[in-house]
Amino acid sequence: MTRQQNTTDDEQASLAAGRAAGYCWAQRPEGPPGRCTRRPDHDGDHMDHYAGRRSVTDVVGYRWPQR
Ligand SMILES: [Zn+2]
Repeated sequence: MTRQQNTTDDEQASLAAGRAAGYCWAQRPEGPPGRCTRRPDHDGDHMDHYAGRRSVTDVVGYRWPQR
């Protein structure tokens, strides 16, 4: 069983799982990893509601513009 160059497969599987959960799931392009948890095809910036929050009172953590 060859598992070389499986990064793309893993990315596709992760994207499929995120979309199945109702998330945009766009990958944060730089810095610590994050995934957009807004609905697919949303307007405006991508936002990760779970990762990157600086305190428990923050509603949104990482936020980055759509390309
Ligand atoms: Zn998004």
